[in-house]
Amino acid sequence: MQVYFDNAATTPLDPEVFDAMKPFMIDHYGNPSSIHSHGRQARSAVEKSRRTIAELLNTSPAEIFFTSGGTEADNTAINCSLASSEIDHIVTSKIEHHAVLHTVERLEQQGTARVSYVDLDRDGSINYDHLQDLISQGGRSLVTLMHANNEIGNLTDLQRVGEMCRDSRSVFHSDTVQAMAHYRYDLQQINIQCILGSAHKFHGPKGVGFLYVQAGHSIGPFIHGGSQERNMRGGTENVAGIVGLAKAMELAYFELDQHHQQIQKLKQYMIDQLKSNIPGITFNGLSDQPDKSLYTVLSISLPASDDREMLLFNLDISGISASGGSACTSGSNIGSHVLEELGADPERSAIRFSFSKYNTREEVDYVVQKLAALRANDKSQPACGK
Ligand code: PLP
Repeated sequence: MQVYFDNAATTPLDPEVFDAMKPFMIDHYGNPSSIHSHGRQARSAVEKSRRTIAELLNTSPAEIFFTSGGTEADNTAINCSLASSEIDHIVTSKIEHHAVLHTVERLEQQGTARVSYVDLDRDGSINYDHLQDLISQGGRSLVTLMHANNEIGNLTDLQRVGEMCRDSRSVFHSDTVQAMAHYRYDLQQINIQCILGSAHKFHGPKGVGFLYVQAGHSIGPFIHGGSQERNMRGGTENVAGIVGLAKAMELAYFELDQHHQQIQKLKQYMIDQLKSNIPGITFNGLSDQPDKSLYTVLSISLPASDDREMLLFNLDISGISASGGSACTSGSNIGSHVLEELGADPERSAIRFSFSKYNTREEVDYVVQKLAALRANDKSQPACGK
């Protein structure tokens, strides 16, 4: 059996998305900047996609800019927000994705900004009182806090942070890569200046995403070049990718509530099965708490064992794709800055399972059974009673 439980790293392309993209790879190949009919056809597809995304987020198409994905959108939001507003203080957390963390670190090294890190509890949840203190230090800040953590699934209360930022006129950016198309955003109801999406996290193509920039928060380009994206991002648009991104968002929103319930149930089923079959298992962050974590991510911690280094490899041999920590640092929890920040015991093994609409209970049974068998075979483990 082949089981793909690494959907936080990337998801399989939905065949309907591929069907929507195909004509723009073969027949409608015009450059959207060309004024002839081929170009106009491509331009029209790009603008239709922009309208689709804007409608789903209850905002205006003028606030949506296409990018090459989440990393570029994060870089644009952070670098360009600082460059365009007189802000020299960034507030963030130590468990952000590297697309944010490394960007912020670089700005600090360059002397462009001072960086404050919000205190986190041992389970990785934000200390909102400390956040309030940091934001109210006087002057405006750029607050960058992810909506859903890609390794442990912890959720940030965007509404609450947005209100804190409103009071000090701070700029609020949230890396929403893991949550986009899994939750609904009503951008008329949240005070937030930048959010983003990356198509390959919700059954769209790789290498395409978008950045939402709230009207009134005027920032310049990160990638300089031609006048594409209303001078906000040079480079010929990835037309087929943009069409696929919008189609994937549309499909995800159409069945969002149903998929939320289905995947949430699957995750709970896996938690229950793991608890009954794997002695000593615990869960990282808030990932086993349904209302406080992203329903697509489950991060487990297994007691110290001889086969720690080989665990993911052995799962892979059994046809199971999962991840240690995050895809960027796959292999083990050594190197996972998130688990390190939470004070995770490096002797224990961390595995992230992440789900999509295509996963089933039979797959969960298979993975739990294989994991239990691997643990039972490990000489350093007490034999499992089941
Ligand atoms: N931010 C988060 C939270 C992610 O999980 C990822 C990808 O894993 C990214 C940003 C980067 O997105 P992309 O792969 O589209 O560059």
